[in-house]
Amino acid sequence: MKPLYYVESIKQSENSTTALLLYIPNNIEKWVNVNKDFRKYIKVRLTTDCLNTVREGRFVYKINDNTYEIANNDHRVAQIHERYNRLIENLTHNLTETPRFLYDKVYSLYSYHINVGHGNHSLIIFESIGKVHIWMIDCSDYDFISHRYYCNNIKDCLDHIRHKFQLADPIHIDVVMLTHAHYDHYSGINYYINTNMIDNRTKAYINLRYKIASHNFNNLLSQLNNIRIQIIEPFSHNSCDNIKILHPNLQNFNNNLSLNNLSSVYNISFDEKSYFVFPGDLEEKGWCLIDVNKCCPYMNRTKYYAISHHGSINGHLRKTFCHCKNAQINNIKDCLHRNTITVLMGRDNAFSGIYSQKVLNDFNGRVLLSEKDPNNNRARFLEIDMLSDIHKWY
Ligand SMILES: [Zn+2]
Ligand SMILES: [Zn+2]
Repeated sequence: MKPLYYVESIKQSENSTTALLLYIPNNIEKWVNVNKDFRKYIKVRLTTDCLNTVREGRFVYKINDNTYEIANNDHRVAQIHERYNRLIENLTHNLTETPRFLYDKVYSLYSYHINVGHGNHSLIIFESIGKVHIWMIDCSDYDFISHRYYCNNIKDCLDHIRHKFQLADPIHIDVVMLTHAHYDHYSGINYYINTNMIDNRTKAYINLRYKIASHNFNNLLSQLNNIRIQIIEPFSHNSCDNIKILHPNLQNFNNNLSLNNLSSVYNISFDEKSYFVFPGDLEEKGWCLIDVNKCCPYMNRTKYYAISHHGSINGHLRKTFCHCKNAQINNIKDCLHRNTITVLMGRDNAFSGIYSQKVLNDFNGRVLLSEKDPNNNRARFLEIDMLSDIHKWY
C-alpha cells in the first residue's frame, strides 16, 4: 500500500518550501481516537514539481521524496471527512449567542505567553467586578518539528497564576479563542479539558466552517463536543465590547485561502482601550483583506501586538492603501503605533526564515520573546503587566 499523508501546512521562505505531513496509518479504526499522536508528523522539503499536488489540507500518497499523488479516493480519507461532517453537525447545536462582556473597569490586567517551542499559547488574566477572569488565546503544548513536549512550562505558568491571583485549584478558563486550525495553535487543549479547566461553562471561539478535515482537528472537535462546550463563531459580526474580531467577516470568508489567512484576528479591549491584537498566523493575503479603516482604531492604538506567524516575513507584509493614515502600508510595523510593544511566540530556527531578521529589525527594541529574556536566558513563560508595562520572564 502507498503511504498516505495529510498535508498539515506548507511553509514558504525565500529559497525553499517545506511541508508538514501527518502519516495516516493503514488501520485507521484503531488510531482514530488516539489523541495527540504527533510522532507521525514529518517535515519534508518540496521541489517545485510537487507544489501542485502537495497542497495544504489535502491527502497525498508519498511515492518518493520528489513524487506525490493526490489520494482523495482512499477510504480512510472518506472516513475522516465523514467524521468531520458529523462532528460539525453536532457542534452547531452548541452555538451560542455572542456574549456582551461588559468589563469596563479592570483593576489588574496581565498577559502570559508560554514558551511552547514552535507554537502559540497565551492567557489574559484580569480582575473586574470582584472576580478574576481567565481568557486563553491559542494553546499549543508540543513542538511538532523538534518533537518536544512543553507541558512543564504550561504547568509552571498555571501554578504561578494560581498563586499570584489566589485562585482555587483547578483554575477555570472562561473563554478560549482559537485563531485557526493548525496544530501549533491548539494541541494543548486536551490538557485543559482533562484537568477540568475547560468545561461546559467555557465559551470557545472556534471556526466550524473550514472545508478541510484533519484527523487531529477532528479529535479536538470530538473532545469539545463531549464536554458540550459553548461555541461562538469567530467572525466580525460576533464582536463584543471586549473581544473584537477584526478578521474574517462572512463576506470575505474564502475557504480557498490557506488556513493561516483564515486566522481570526482578536482585539482585546477594556474601557475602549485596545490592549492586545492577536492575529494568529495571518499572512500578507489575509492582512490585505482586512478593512484598512480598522487600522487606526485597533492596530494603531493597541498597546501590545502578538507578531503574526511566529516572526516570519510572510506574516509581516501588507500591501494596501490605508485611508486613516493616508499612506501606502507595506508592512505591519506601519499599521501599529511606534510605541506598540510586540510579543514574538515561536522558536528561532523552527523553519528557515523564522524569525525573520527584517521583522526583528522593524520592531527593534520593542520585541518581547516568549522563549528567552533580553539577556538570552531561556524562559518558561513571559508575564506582562499591561497596566504598568512591566515585563518579566520566568
Ligand atoms: Zn503557527
Ligand atoms: Zn498556522
